[in-house]
Amino acid sequence: MSGHEKNILWWFSAVRILLVEDHERLASLVSKGLKAAHFLVEAFARGDEALAALEVAHYDAMILDLGLPDQDGLEVLRRLRGKGLSLPVLILTSRVLVAQRIEGLNAGADDYLTKPFDMAELIARLHALLRRPEIALGSLLTAGNLVFDVGAREASVNAAPFPLTPREAGLLEHLLRRAGKVVPKAMLEDSLYGLQETVSPNTIEVLAHRLRKKLESVDAGVSIHTVRGVGYLLTAETKP
Ligand code: CA
Repeated sequence: MSGHEKNILWWFSAVRILLVEDHERLASLVSKGLKAAHFLVEAFARGDEALAALEVAHYDAMILDLGLPDQDGLEVLRRLRGKGLSLPVLILTSRVLVAQRIEGLNAGADDYLTKPFDMAELIARLHALLRRPEIALGSLLTAGNLVFDVGAREASVNAAPFPLTPREAGLLEHLLRRAGKVVPKAMLEDSLYGLQETVSPNTIEVLAHRLRKKLESVDAGVSIHTVRGVGYLLTAETKP
């Protein structure tokens, strides 16, 4: 599979975050952190670029710096709300005053985090934003007797909790999002493991084997099939 094809598959399977940050090193760090947390990130340094991207692509949430080179981030926010776009927006800024926070929230932000910040907190806040009911409508993935809550990253089988490790949850989400279709192994490696991690040839195989056994042990009504040399495929038993 070509890199381009891989990118396209990745694009359709992940939660998409629009990052607007002109500080190059910070943008790169945030992008890496989010990718390691299984988000897809598109980063832009300018407000006009971000607004143009919103015209042509769907994003699940936006992280917005306020001090941008071409316009104030608050202006970007007002414009996108003016166009009726309702995606959750988290302002990430060094403006720390309470009055500035209030201004940001009044301009249509859903959350506000000040620099310096902790990457884990940013990710937790994004998950919280993506869990909100109006956004969460499409966030329950179901197959067979299995329900997976994308925002909470929790699964249940026949309404009973089905505990998963973070990576098992990541793999299950990818397979559920493309249920009935083969998900390439290379794409799974890319999205489930961070850039700094070395992935041995059988890492995904071991993970898939473990998840398959777990699903079988609880009558989940779904099966994970191995397509040799290509990837994995999840199918559901049809309910009578
Ligand atoms: Ca800035």
